[in-house]
Amino acid sequence: MIQPKNLKAQIEKCLSPETKNIINDCAKIAQEKDFRIYLVGGIVRDLLLERKIYDIDVTVQGDAIEFCKILQAELDCKIIQIQNDLRTAKVKFSNSIEIDFASTRKEEYPEKGHLPIVTETGCSLSSDVYRRDFTVNAISSSLNQNNFGEIEDFTGGLEDLKKKKLRILYEKSFIDDPSRIIRGLKFSVRLGFELEEKTKQQQDEYLKNPNRNLSWFRIKSELQQAFSLNVSEVLDKCVEQKIYKIFSDATNKNIKAKDVFNIINKYKSEITYIWLVYFGVLLTDKETIELFNFEKNEKRLLVDALEMIHENFYTKDLFEIYKFFENKCIESILIFYLVTKNENAILFLNELRKHKVLTTGDELINMGFLPGLQFKQIFDSVLQERLKGNIQNKQEELNFIKTLKNS
Ligand code: ATP
Ligand code: MG
Repeated sequence: MIQPKNLKAQIEKCLSPETKNIINDCAKIAQEKDFRIYLVGGIVRDLLLERKIYDIDVTVQGDAIEFCKILQAELDCKIIQIQNDLRTAKVKFSNSIEIDFASTRKEEYPEKGHLPIVTETGCSLSSDVYRRDFTVNAISSSLNQNNFGEIEDFTGGLEDLKKKKLRILYEKSFIDDPSRIIRGLKFSVRLGFELEEKTKQQQDEYLKNPNRNLSWFRIKSELQQAFSLNVSEVLDKCVEQKIYKIFSDATNKNIKAKDVFNIINKYKSEITYIWLVYFGVLLTDKETIELFNFEKNEKRLLVDALEMIHENFYTKDLFEIYKFFENKCIESILIFYLVTKNENAILFLNELRKHKVLTTGDELINMGFLPGLQFKQIFDSVLQERLKGNIQNKQEELNFIKTLKNS
């Protein structure tokens, strides 16, 4: 890691020419209109670590919305989102580059685990940083023309970057916002960092007595980001450090994270919700699902997985295996397999599901069958013959169906 007092060279070296132009334009306007603006958060951290940049966050000492309105009037850009209570705005520039502008602010958490209230906006940069999650995310770099690139580090973030430590900014940080625990998990795996000792103690302390009256959407969003990294360490750490206690008292402890990773990657092209497979193997009861405001598809696949695990039906009858897994999505089947180790799931995925009845309802009508219950019986009989290997193609299906008609 480089450790300069100034980020100018890194900005020059690591950002695209378009991004640099935009940043320079913003800096110029800030100068003209007398605003102090700073890069902050992940972009500063990742420039210092010489890592890929995910997004650009700028803090405005003063009112970010007012500043963005000026940008919109003066530059080729558009405000695409405004949050009045937080005094933040998102601006879209040319080449679809988006920047989040936030006013410096102070926050309080009157209701622990819920969104904070803003007690002051436009405060000094030095008092803004204490609302942040970790010291390494609280380093800023000036975008003002007189000291462009100069680093401000009020909380020892540079030292922690060097030591590869994640350190919270105040003792009750996780109680105010437990989603920071999952952010810590995400960053520890992404950056290869460890929790600093006292931070780990605070995490352990919180997890002994977790608050379930939370704003769950933030937990969900962080879990989604952490598990979407698709690396087994996230699941390992989640279990080892008991981070699952944020949402559940118990979990499936016999699961090997490496097995989850391997099976996800085997079927990856078919999976829509990779992160839910990691999350699903941690689940032991439906009540946990209810905590989160899942979309319909997400909820369905988790509920299906839990119901299948509960039933854990094992048979050697190929037709019954087919029927058990039929109409279940791949995520549910994988969660079921990982929790139960029931090999029927793999037999279904690798072999049985290839078998499809090709004859259609219209063809049955043309053959003189009446629609209704009889159709289902015919299709099931054809499927059974296919699974036994007695029928290989459509013609053989039709021949077989004719024998049913005559019987
Ligand atoms: P990434 O590289 O994933 O974008 P980031 O550190 O920039 O990482 P963001 O989610 O973009 O993270 O948030 C920007 C900044 O806002 C963070 O660096 C951190 O300072 C602050 N922040 C975000 N979420 C929280 C939170 N829950 N509590 C405190 N501060 C937060
Ligand atoms: Mg960011």
